[in-house]
Amino acid sequence: MFDNLSDKLDKAFHILKGHGKITEVNVADTLKEVRRALLDADVNFKIAKDFTARVKEKAIGQDVLTTLQPGQLLVKLVKDELTELMGGDVAGVNLSGNPTVILMSGLQGSGKTTFSGKLANFLKTKKNKKPLLVACDIYRPAAINQLHVVGDQIGVEVYSEPENKNPVEIAQNAIKHAKANGLNVVIVDTAGRLAVDQEMMDEIARVHKAIQPQETLFVVDSMTGQDAVNTAKAFNDILNFDGVILTKLDGDTRGGAALSIKSIVNKPIKFVGTGEKMEAIDVFYPERMAERILG
Ligand code: GDP
Repeated sequence: MFDNLSDKLDKAFHILKGHGKITEVNVADTLKEVRRALLDADVNFKIAKDFTARVKEKAIGQDVLTTLQPGQLLVKLVKDELTELMGGDVAGVNLSGNPTVILMSGLQGSGKTTFSGKLANFLKTKKNKKPLLVACDIYRPAAINQLHVVGDQIGVEVYSEPENKNPVEIAQNAIKHAKANGLNVVIVDTAGRLAVDQEMMDEIARVHKAIQPQETLFVVDSMTGQDAVNTAKAFNDILNFDGVILTKLDGDTRGGAALSIKSIVNKPIKFVGTGEKMEAIDVFYPERMAERILG
C-alpha cells in the first residue's frame, strides 16, 4: 500500500538525510517533491498545496536549516502534518444507543455489505455486543442473500423482509425486532447504486430520518482516488455522516482518499477494510497511516 508515495518521499528526503547541512533551496526542492508525490497519490491539488505550505512555514519557524539533523526534523514535520490531515486522533464509534443503530451508506461495490459483516463481527467478538444485521436493499435480491451468507459466517442474525419494498419500514421493523430479542446493535445495510443518483439519496435520507442512527457511516472504496472524495461530499451533504470507512486498502491503492476526505468533509476515517475476509478490519490510526506513507 502507498508504495508510490512512500518511495517518492523516500527519494525526496534522501538528499536531506545524506547531508549534514541543508539550504533553503534543498527544503523548497524537497517540499516540491512531497507535493508532487501527494498529487500523484490523487490528493486534491489545493490540499497538497496547503499541506506543503504549512510544512514549510513550520520548518522555517523551527529553524530547520540550523538544526543538527534537518532531514529528520523535516520528516517529522511532514509526518505530523500528514497525521493531522488524516484526522489527528483515533475516532471511536458511538455505541450509546439502546439499541445502537448504525446506518451504512455508500455506492454499490464500495464494500458496504462486507463491511457491515466485519463490523458486526468486530462488535460481537471485541466489544461483547449482540448485533443484528439488516438487509435494506429492496432492488437486488442477491444483496439480501449476500448479507445472509455473511451473517451465517460470523454467527450473527440477519433481518430481512424480501417481500417488503419499503426500506424505511424494514429498518423500523428490524429495530423493533432487536429490542424484542435483546440485540443491542442494529447495523442497517442500504441499497447502493453505481453512481450517486437522486433516488438513492432520497431513499437513504428517508431511512436516516426515520431511524435516527447513532452512527451513520460512509463506506468508500479507496481504489477510487479522487472520485472517493467527490462521492464522500455528495453523501455528506445529504446525511451529515459521522465517519468514513475506507475499504480495499489491501489493494494497489495510492492513498489519496485517506489524505483528502478528512479535509474535504471534515469527518474522521474510523475503520479500514484490508481484505475480503470477515477479520480484515482495522481501526484507522492516522499516525500509523502517516508513518506508512513515509515508509
Ligand atoms: P457493496 O455493494 O457496497 O455491498 O459491496 P460488497 O460488500 O459486495 O463488496 C464488493 C466487492 O468488494 C466484493 O467482492 C467484496 O469481497 C470486495 N471487498 C469488500 N471489502 C474489501 C476489502 O477491504 N478488500 C478487498 N480486497 N476486497 C473487498
